[in-house]
Amino acid sequence: MKYLIDHSKKVIHRTTFAGDQCEFHTTPIDKREGTLDSPYLEKLVAEKSYKVCDVCSSSMIKE
Ligand SMILES: [Zn+2]
Repeated sequence: MKYLIDHSKKVIHRTTFAGDQCEFHTTPIDKREGTLDSPYLEKLVAEKSYKVCDVCSSSMIKE
């Protein structure tokens, strides 16, 4: 599973399910990051207050 990190809004999306309603299209390209690194994502959530997108990531890391 590949994920898209929106560093501007601090939201993590699942690339496969991310759509218009996720609103990352308004984020500059240099503020977006694609990754397959789950530990990195969990660290962002735990330490940097990043949120998992409700729209596309419901089954990702816990809630
Ligand atoms: Zn999303």
